[in-house]
Amino acid sequence: MTQTAAPSRPSTSSEPPAAGASSVGPTAEDTQPTENENLDRFLTGLITVLPFIGLGVVAWQLWNSLLHWSDIAVFAITYALCAVGVTVGFHRHFTHRSFKAKPWVRGALAIFGSAAIEGPIISWVADHRKHHAFSDKEGDPHSPHGHDGPLRGLLHAHVGWLFIHTQRANRERYTPDLLKDPFIAYVDRTFLLWVLAGLAFPFGLGWLIGGSIDTALTGLLWGGLVRMLVLHHVTYSINSLCHFFGRRRFDVDDESRNLAWLSIFSLGESWHHNHHAFPTSAHHGLHWWELDVSSLVIRGLRRAGLVWDVVEISPERQAKKLVEKDAAAPGT
Ligand SMILES: [Zn+2]
Ligand SMILES: [Zn+2]
Repeated sequence: MTQTAAPSRPSTSSEPPAAGASSVGPTAEDTQPTENENLDRFLTGLITVLPFIGLGVVAWQLWNSLLHWSDIAVFAITYALCAVGVTVGFHRHFTHRSFKAKPWVRGALAIFGSAAIEGPIISWVADHRKHHAFSDKEGDPHSPHGHDGPLRGLLHAHVGWLFIHTQRANRERYTPDLLKDPFIAYVDRTFLLWVLAGLAFPFGLGWLIGGSIDTALTGLLWGGLVRMLVLHHVTYSINSLCHFFGRRRFDVDDESRNLAWLSIFSLGESWHHNHHAFPTSAHHGLHWWELDVSSLVIRGLRRAGLVWDVVEISPERQAKKLVEKDAAAPGT
């Protein structure tokens, strides 16, 4: 900050030097003396700091008028329930049968997953089983490979495939077990009901926590729309990013990858390469440092006696499937 708002004395020099006329260095005549140095510093400091204070006030006002603590709570609770419905329910239980569960737990998982608005449960499971049957080959509903360039491929795997119906899985062929289950078939048929319940829930929760219609509406915004946005794109990223970027260590015949940073929001689903190596495993994180919240939820449910026959892959079986180190990284 060189310009100040402090009053300053007019120049003592009567004749301004012509631009570029001075061939010697600056003298005292070149410098504008300050009448009150302390006042100058104070004012400069004030106009430097004031905008930051203003920004703080704006943030504080937004927090109190547009964003409440109740919104954060509603978002977190609704996100957690819907995400667990998809990862623990739709994916690990219904698609891959990686554990058995009490009927009411099964029902709750089916309903929470439906509320995530990723399609009716049986179609979701059928498409995902077809994805495993043809991973990154002709017939895979959402591979980022085999398209005109990587960007088109990633876009197709992320969201484009949802608008195309040529590779959707045949429900009779891929999900006869679920079509036979009366309650699951009912949850599938009444998908719209669970979508609406998934929106009514954050509205009611916002009202309950915040105590006003305002917090109910912002609860609907955060627990409904924002939650939908985040969870959708996290799920889409498993299909796009986790078949494109990341690390691999097992000998599998597809392009699946482990993407560590996505494991937090995806509740462990981004250890997707591990998952393709051992699709029935209830745990996608196979090392202690591979954070997998869905796996922790399944362990918790097992401890409570609500789920059992949890499929686990022994370290020996994992080791057998590792890519030969020499072949994977020559010279290292
Ligand atoms: Zn995959
Ligand atoms: Zn899977």
